Amino acid sequence: MMQRALFGRCALFAQQTAALESSMAPRSAPALLRQDRSASSLTVPPPACMLQPLEAPFRYLFGPGPSNVPPRVLAAGGRPIIGHMHPEMFEIMNDIKKGIQYIFQTENNMTISMSGSGHAAMECAVFNTVEPGESVLVGINGIWGERVAEIAERMGANVHRMVKTPGGYFTNMEIEQAIAKHKPVLFFLTHGESSAGLCNPVDGIGDICRKHNCLFLVDTVASLGAAPIFMDKQNIDIIYSGSQKALNAPPGTAPISFNDRACHKMFNRKTKPVSYLFDMAHLSNYWGCDDKPARAYHHTGPVSGFFALRESLAILAEKGLEESWKQHKEVAAHLYRGLEDLGLKLFVPEKDLRLPSVTTIAVPEGYDWRELLMYIMKHHQMEMTGGLGPSIGMVMRVGLMGYNCQKRNADMALHALADALKNCKKSRA
Ligand code: PMP
Repeated sequence: MMQRALFGRCALFAQQTAALESSMAPRSAPALLRQDRSASSLTVPPPACMLQPLEAPFRYLFGPGPSNVPPRVLAAGGRPIIGHMHPEMFEIMNDIKKGIQYIFQTENNMTISMSGSGHAAMECAVFNTVEPGESVLVGINGIWGERVAEIAERMGANVHRMVKTPGGYFTNMEIEQAIAKHKPVLFFLTHGESSAGLCNPVDGIGDICRKHNCLFLVDTVASLGAAPIFMDKQNIDIIYSGSQKALNAPPGTAPISFNDRACHKMFNRKTKPVSYLFDMAHLSNYWGCDDKPARAYHHTGPVSGFFALRESLAILAEKGLEESWKQHKEVAAHLYRGLEDLGLKLFVPEKDLRLPSVTTIAVPEGYDWRELLMYIMKHHQMEMTGGLGPSIGMVMRVGLMGYNCQKRNADMALHALADALKNCKKSRA
C-alpha cells in the first residue's frame, strides 16, 4: 500500500519532468567540436559539468522544509515569464497580497512578499522597524531567536536575549517583566520553533507589547497554514513567513505584513534602513501599498516564484485555513501514536505545545542519529533531519506539511524509521 503511494507519486513526478528532461539532453560532441578553440580569447573553458544535463533526484521531503511541491504549483512556476512591471504582473502581485492577508488573517494594507527566503523577511522586519542603538528583546528557545538576535546586533541594535533550552517556552509574565526591564522597541518570538518542534503560545503578548509601546514581531515560517495564527485578533504588529513549508511553493519568496503601528514606526525613522533591497519605503511602492499613483522600478521580482506562490496561496484558499489546521493536527496525532508504538519518545512532552508541521523525536538511547537519518535517505529516498542550532544531537525532525501532510506519508515515515531502528547498530550503546 505504502509502496503504491510511493510509486504513484514517482510516476506523476516522472511524467511531469519528462518534457523538461528531453529539453536538457546532453549537448552533442560535434557541436562542441565545431568551436575553434585555438581562435578563442577565453582562458577559462566551459566547465565539463555544464555539458551534462541537470540532475535532481526525486526525494520525499519529510524534514523541516522545503517540502514537496504539488504539480499544480510546479506548473504555475513553469509558465512563460512576463515582465516584472507589466500590468498583468501587478495584478498577480495584488492577488498574492490578498492571499497573504487571508493566511495571516489580517486586513493590513502593508502586506507583500519578499523576493528572497524567510531570512529576507526576517531581515526586512528588523531593518525597517529598528534603528541603531534602539533596544530589542528576543525570545530564544531554538535557533530562530538566535538568528534574529544576530541580525539585530549586526545592524547596531542593543539586543537583550531571553533564553530557554529547546523545548522550553516563555510565560506571558516572564515576557512582560523582561519588556518592562529592557524597554525594547521590538519584541521577537518564533511561533513555530522548527528546531525544537514547539509551537510557542502567542495569545496576550500583543497586548503586553502595546501596553509597553513595543512592536510584536512573530516568525511563522514553519507554522503558517499548519497552526492557527490571527495577526489582527492577536494584535501582532509584524508577521513574516516563508514559501517552502506548509505553503508548498518553491523556496525563494516570503510573505510579510506590517500593521499601522509598525508602519508608523518604520516610516518615521531618523536614519535610512541599512538595506536598500529591503527598504519598505521602496518595497511598499513596488507592491502598490503606498499612496503614489504609479509603481516604480525597485528590483526585478522573481516572476516564476510569484506565479508559484500565487498558486500555493490559491490552493490554501480553496481548501480553507481551518481545514488545513485540522488536517495538520490530525496527521501529527497519527504520527505521534506511531512513533510511540515504535518506542520512540516525543521531544516536546506537552501535546498542546507541539508544532503540528514539524515533529521532534528525542534521539533514541544508544543510536547515532546521523546514522539513522543517512540510512533513511539511502534506503527510502526520504529526508528527515537532525536538530538545528541548540537542538543538534537532541532531536530528529519529521516534517509533514501542506501537500505532504497525509496519513499515508506519516505511515511511510514510520515504516522508514522502524526499518532504520532495526538495521542501524546501536553504536553508542
Ligand atoms: N524561521 C523558521 C521558523 C524556520 O523554520 C526557517 C527555515 N527553516 C526560517 C525562519 C528561515 O527561512 P529560510 O531558510 O527560508 O530563509
